[in-house]
Amino acid sequence: MRNTMRFGRAVIIGGSMAGLLGARVLSDFFEEVIVLERDPETGGPEARKGVPQGRHAHGLLDAGLQVLDTLFPGLVREMYAEGGERMDMGRDAAWYTSGSWKPRYHSGIELILCTRTWLEWKVRGRVSALRQVKLRSGCSVEGLLLDEAGTRVTGVKVRSAEGEELLAADLVVDAAGRGSRAANWLEALGYGRPEEEKIGLQLAYTSRFFEPPAQYRGDWKMMAVFPRAPEEQRGGFIARVEGGRWLVTLHGYFGDHPPTTDEGFLEFARQLPKPDIYEAIREARPLTEAVMHKIPSSRLLHFERMERFPESFVVLGDAVCALNPVYGQGMTVCSLSAKLLGDTVGRQAEVSPGSLKGLARDFQNKLARLLSIPWRMGTTMDLKYPQAEGQRYPGLGLLHWGFGTLIDFTSVNTLACRQFYEVMHMRRGMEAFLRPDLLAAFAAYGLKSFFVPFPQRANVHTAPRAPA
Ligand SMILES: Cc1cc2nc3c(=O)[nH]c(=O)nc-3n(C[C@H](O)[C@H](O)[C@H](O)COP(=O)(O)OP(=O)(O)OC[C@H]3O[C@@H](n4cnc5c(N)ncnc54)[C@H](O)[C@@H]3O)c2cc1C
Repeated sequence: MRNTMRFGRAVIIGGSMAGLLGARVLSDFFEEVIVLERDPETGGPEARKGVPQGRHAHGLLDAGLQVLDTLFPGLVREMYAEGGERMDMGRDAAWYTSGSWKPRYHSGIELILCTRTWLEWKVRGRVSALRQVKLRSGCSVEGLLLDEAGTRVTGVKVRSAEGEELLAADLVVDAAGRGSRAANWLEALGYGRPEEEKIGLQLAYTSRFFEPPAQYRGDWKMMAVFPRAPEEQRGGFIARVEGGRWLVTLHGYFGDHPPTTDEGFLEFARQLPKPDIYEAIREARPLTEAVMHKIPSSRLLHFERMERFPESFVVLGDAVCALNPVYGQGMTVCSLSAKLLGDTVGRQAEVSPGSLKGLARDFQNKLARLLSIPWRMGTTMDLKYPQAEGQRYPGLGLLHWGFGTLIDFTSVNTLACRQFYEVMHMRRGMEAFLRPDLLAAFAAYGLKSFFVPFPQRANVHTAPRAPA
């Protein structure tokens, strides 16, 4: 598609994962793509104010990794070569979730383990090298500009050290994350507000880097211990990241937050549903202070349901859907959404060259379909907690039983686990489970679950070893 530019200038609000990936796909179709980022330039892979979650463990799932590899040929290989950990989800993850350990086997489902700051920095490096893209730091977007008829966004109001500026654009993309003001701006312009779905979680992450103890011999690259809802609400994970460090992140729901003190952090780890993380880190040397980040809720905005929506304006990334981070899907969803934006603009360019009419609505509709699976999966699990604030609907109890039994089943049946990882890593939809052999085994397991209590049904006690 390169060299077949059909549109003029795109402006992107926010220079984090969604904004950078958005810039990459739009560079195929726009003469000029300007990314406006409020934070000043960091000069390296450092945490910054606008992305406070950058200090905490982030995994990029298989589908996200594939998008990255396609958009930036050679980048993933380069990151492995420079210290990012290549991880096979089945072989290299010691994962205890919802009351049982998952089997260990070679799955072919890949993840990169590295810090979020480094990943973003590497992506930023590639995007800044694109001829069409201009990255401008220290620029805060304060509002949208509308045409005289009030139907099309024509640019943005920008504030920077140089003062205020009105920047014209043929397409404006809001990728400003959870703090996006798109809903407020649309309301102020007379479009009304999008419907909002929200699940109150009162979740907090506390993270700290450690140097692994010299004598520690783990057969994993990532260890995760997640709670079984609704009885347990604490979890944590250790990820091996670049520089041979461990990034240890603990989390707790509903105000049960992991402390940032030395003793408090360790004690919280000791009280997780399994002590394995505590046992790994108790002799490890902390390299940094522990830092906390609070996530009050997960949230989905239905821009696609708005009666009126302006032309030439799209919303992407956490600005639309901020998922519960525990499921590790946010950046993968950003990647898939950016790819979808590129595909949608590409089709538009073919069908109506030079015109973006209808693109905004078309994209938000398609995006809503993409988001519905991760959103429904995550929120269904979260609503198992009675403390979770959110709309409950008829049949939810049955869904909880079905999902819960399926998760247990994936601990004792490797084929089920394989399909579960395919879905979790967003390589496939729930149809991955629709295999006669799997359905029969699941039905038998589900039937048994009425008579045999949970601990006897799954490999609860000791972590399986990694395959040779
Ligand atoms: C604690 C935590 C852990 C997570 N763990 C994972 C994980 O393991 N795996 C995973 O895939 N995802 C994870 N996520 C989710 C992931 O961080 C997000 O999905 C992802 O960062 C969203 O990217 P984004 O670009 O949409 O928004 P953000 O990363 O939030 O970036 C928004 C950007 O917009 C800028 N901005 C905001 N307003 C303006 C403005 N008015 N003008 C100009 N710039 C503006 C900000 O400065 C920022 O740079 C986690 C999230 C949290 C909170």
